Amino acid sequence: MKLRLIVLSRRIIILAVIFMLIAGLMQVSDSYAQFRWKKEIFLPGLQGKTVIIDPGHGGADPGAVSGRYQESDLNMELALALKSQLEDNGVKVKLTRNGSEGIVPKENMTYSEQWANLRKRKEFAAEQRGHLLLSIHTNSHQDPHVSGAIVFYSDEISADLAAEIQARMNTLGLKKRLAEKKNFTVIKDNPMPAVLIETGFITNEHDREMLIKSKGTVAQLIYEALDRYYREQTAPQTETAAKGG
Ligand SMILES: [Zn+2]
Repeated sequence: MKLRLIVLSRRIIILAVIFMLIAGLMQVSDSYAQFRWKKEIFLPGLQGKTVIIDPGHGGADPGAVSGRYQESDLNMELALALKSQLEDNGVKVKLTRNGSEGIVPKENMTYSEQWANLRKRKEFAAEQRGHLLLSIHTNSHQDPHVSGAIVFYSDEISADLAAEIQARMNTLGLKKRLAEKKNFTVIKDNPMPAVLIETGFITNEHDREMLIKSKGTVAQLIYEALDRYYREQTAPQTETAAKGG
């Protein structure tokens, strides 16, 4: 009886040690993956990167509405056009929502629930180890003449990216604007560059027509901006080599 107990407790100890070893190994490999991801964010080259696209609003929240047009739909259509443009060029894409699937607002949300929904979108970007976060929105104004795309950024690591996208959005024939710094929840305090693109005004007929008819062109321009941004990034080792030479 005593011997049996000793054998049993030995087995338990061996199993516990094996379990702890596996847990330890998993933790090491997870922190290595975290380390590698944070390093990759600023490495040059868009190919192989993971871009998180966040089509704003959705579900019970249409966003800005103008006549029969809803912002949530325009955001989604552009997000899908951009997704295929990026994937055709070897970029991985994850969407925070696809239509009404994913992180979508429910009906009658309180202010704090709305805020939690926005937080979930940025948390998703980090969980998926995204290298870049693009939140897609469409603006609105009571004056139907107000036009133009505005790219918002919250921190210095995103300023160059915002400027690249803004410069290309300014070629679409809408009112030309400058990128703006603003602390929107989705784009602030992210480990990766993050911008919120207000692609144009849903309340302006010309902007809206362009967004509906030329989403392929808009997607192409955003892709070019990301590509240029990642060409201009300099890997730390390249910088040292350049200094050495
Ligand atoms: Zn919006």
